Amino acid sequence: MVYNFAAGPAVLPQEVLKKAQAELLNYAGSGMSVMELSHRGAEFSMILEQAEANLRDLMRIPDDYKVLFLQGGASLQFSMLAMNLVLGKKAYYLVSGSFGKKAYSEAVKLSKTLNFEPILLASSEDEHFAELAKFEPLMIDPEASYVHVTMNNTIEGTTIYELPETNGVPLVADMSSDILAVDYDVSRFALIYAGAQKNMGPAGMTVVIVREDFLPQDEVLSSMLDYRILAEHQSLYNTPPAFSIYMSGLVFEWAKAEGGVKALEARNCEKARLLYDTIDASSFYNNPVKFKAERSICNVPFRTPTAELDTAFIKEAEVAGFKNLAGHRSVGGMRASIYNAFPKEGVEALVDFMKAFEEKHHDLSD
Ligand SMILES: *Cc1c(COP(=O)(O)O)cnc(C)c1O
Repeated sequence: MVYNFAAGPAVLPQEVLKKAQAELLNYAGSGMSVMELSHRGAEFSMILEQAEANLRDLMRIPDDYKVLFLQGGASLQFSMLAMNLVLGKKAYYLVSGSFGKKAYSEAVKLSKTLNFEPILLASSEDEHFAELAKFEPLMIDPEASYVHVTMNNTIEGTTIYELPETNGVPLVADMSSDILAVDYDVSRFALIYAGAQKNMGPAGMTVVIVREDFLPQDEVLSSMLDYRILAEHQSLYNTPPAFSIYMSGLVFEWAKAEGGVKALEARNCEKARLLYDTIDASSFYNNPVKFKAERSICNVPFRTPTAELDTAFIKEAEVAGFKNLAGHRSVGGMRASIYNAFPKEGVEALVDFMKAFEEKHHDLSD
């Protein structure tokens, strides 16, 4: 038995993989694989429509929002955002983790050739991102284009559960690692984006959910970078990441059958609680996040007393079938990513393994 704790690309539901396997050579009686279908044919049109309808259902996306299935990963959105939305204006960035910092750095780079002003609203980098960055809403110019936040800090293991007050300025969110895992109110955001490979499907697709009145008005951007043009073409301006959209569509169906986002969130809380309780009850393990209320239910970072023991832990865990537990290369330690598709049994097994490892090694840590 193998349990895959990878942060992304991450584990997919077994049922989804089996369905895709069964349909791989002959999709819906077409005699062709989904990979071979024309992206403008009837079969793929259905796949695309169904995927969008199910995502709208799952997230309760209001009708005045467009849903786009794009390429380029969440990382391309760091740039597309600014190119589409902020000409002549200010854009604020709340930086509580490495990905938020990247989003801000990309905006700073772009502002050398585009006329806008990216502003670092607050950063918790000096605290090693062990907590969420805090700010006063009145620091924000109400004329600004947006405030950018990262909902779940995938590497550092913190999450925004309460949406911040932004002095009336639209909220834009990178939701890559907790989309469909935490139940957010979409109507509170002007734009949401997320790479598929953590909670939705295989890599290759990026979801952008954008309120229509937030789309750019002037046709000045290259078509492939212009939200309005991409929206007008219903994600079919060019060849979309068809197979990734199909797989994500299967995951959306699965998520609905599992009871939807609220049910999945409750399950994720339960899985995370098992791990955090184990960490908190032990003097051997620790979680680097400063406030319990900010702890992620998707990515749980933890450490033993020494870097040597961390290395031993990862190695022994790997042999025992617990894969991809090493923390991000920038922070070290361990990280258990336990997104929607990660089974509770896997967390229970890891907790048992952690207790046995502590039992065996705690004398060495003094
Ligand atoms: C993984 C991740 C990214 C980067 O996603 P890509 O699809 O690889 O570009 C950005 N933001 C967050 C929060 C992430 O977890």
